[in-house]
Amino acid sequence: MRSANALRIVHERTPLLNFSSLNFSRLLRKSCMARLSILRYPDPRLHTIAKPVTAFDERLAKLVADMADTMYTAPGIGLAATQVDVHEQVIVIDVSDTRDQLLVLVNPEIVWASDERQVYDEGCLSVPGIFDGVERPLRVRIKAQDASGKLQEFDAEGLLAVCVQHEMDHLKGKVFVEYLSPLKRNRIKTKLLKEERELKKERQAEAVR
Ligand SMILES: [Zn+2]
Repeated sequence: MRSANALRIVHERTPLLNFSSLNFSRLLRKSCMARLSILRYPDPRLHTIAKPVTAFDERLAKLVADMADTMYTAPGIGLAATQVDVHEQVIVIDVSDTRDQLLVLVNPEIVWASDERQVYDEGCLSVPGIFDGVERPLRVRIKAQDASGKLQEFDAEGLLAVCVQHEMDHLKGKVFVEYLSPLKRNRIKTKLLKEERELKKERQAEAVR
């Protein structure tokens, strides 16, 4: 996910944000990271439903490290494996100001959601340049494993809650623009397809030169 007014909400009341960051720094040291290319809407692969992760091995550690590198470089505050064309239930998130509180969610589930809802201007690394309001539950309780398979449960609210729900939608093959009106969605589709054609032309021109 990309945030319009990045990190507008600070989550000092969310102590569980960094539950997997210690594990993660160990993973980072072991892995050689690579930036992955991000699928752009309306790429049909973004609608693939992700499968649960069953092996908590080196391959998963490498995927998580690469996804984190890709998210931080973009820059974004969340990335789902679906967006890098890996159809497994893996999410990385960092909504901290300091960009050092990586949250890794493997096989995440929402076990409770508040009736109270919030509208937040969402953006997405797969839908560059587009921001629009989406209404979702204000607070959610999430159950997920970390990159080593350890099960965690925590509450999220505000931006973190938005981000977790946005990324979990990706794992179900859903992009945030699908919450918008068909008219808006079609405009976005047309704009992004046009940009893609222009990019392709530029690349071809570069290759000729
Ligand atoms: Zn997204």
